[in-house]
Amino acid sequence: MVVEHDAAWATRFEREAASIREALGDLVIAVEHVGSTAVPGLVAKPTVDIAVGATTSELTGEVVARMERFGYEDAGTDIKPGQHIFRKGSSFPREVLVHVVRWGSSEWSDLLRFRDRLRNDPRLAQEYADLKKTLLAERGEWYRGDDKQELVERALADAPVLFFESTSSPEETETLAAELAGELRVGDVITVSGELGSGKTTFVRGACRALGVTDPVTSPTFTIGHRYEGRVPVSHLDLYRFAQLSHAEWGDLEPYFDDAVAFVEWPEAGAGVLPAARVRVTLRHSGRDERAIEIERADTRV
Ligand code: ADP
Ligand code: MG
Repeated sequence: MVVEHDAAWATRFEREAASIREALGDLVIAVEHVGSTAVPGLVAKPTVDIAVGATTSELTGEVVARMERFGYEDAGTDIKPGQHIFRKGSSFPREVLVHVVRWGSSEWSDLLRFRDRLRNDPRLAQEYADLKKTLLAERGEWYRGDDKQELVERALADAPVLFFESTSSPEETETLAAELAGELRVGDVITVSGELGSGKTTFVRGACRALGVTDPVTSPTFTIGHRYEGRVPVSHLDLYRFAQLSHAEWGDLEPYFDDAVAFVEWPEAGAGVLPAARVRVTLRHSGRDERAIEIERADTRV
């Protein structure tokens, strides 16, 4: 049966993600909850799908053995191209499916983009749920991934494009940001996510330089934000100290978004309150001076 959405799936994901990180160590760049159980409210086959963006999808025997010690059964690389699959749960449906793919590959991109399409489009999510119910009713058994291919492809066709880049120095991150800056216009909001020291401010600095800002660009953690004058006005905010932005707090921030290109570090607290981002940047540590950078652009400018 497909079952009602269960909040325990998110908890299960967190627990599994922690053990996968422990098992795979430095191979891991990012771990994401994907598939139907990652879409709030959606009915699903109760299998928690986990995408692991790793430095490689070609795992050595030693690495596979480590996953097995953490309770994952090796399902090998033949099920889906570009994916090394592991699972937990002895019967069907499995409790957990782990998809180890190369970070930034088309497999990684598609897993995230399909999940995000379902999260952002309730009608598509409903259609997906209905399709599964129909398949189950027709077959009286579990459907397979192939049966859903048409819907998946259609969903991906109009999903925002994700762009992945690795950098090996702060200068490279600044250069990447400078390239992006060429596309930016007054009124654009660019969110910049990532843990402490991942390079958010470095990225914003690179973009600001390209926009003609000559002032020092530093983290505004202890103020609400900075406003710089470049060839265009530029705002730089950091929402680190906010848990969840209230509408009163938004009143203080709003002027930063007027007539400016606005960069927002730690944007998570502004969810639902900030204006829609045109570009979303996520940085992750992937080695000492290595950073794995994901850039998502909203629909092309009209
Ligand atoms: P955040 O704003 O995310 O806390 P910062 O940009 O202030 O991060 O700091 C990032 C730190 O990491 C800086 O000291 C920077 O020199 C260093 N660093 C090393 N390699 C990179 C890289 N590839 N990209 C960005 N920063 C890097
Ligand atoms: Mg910062």
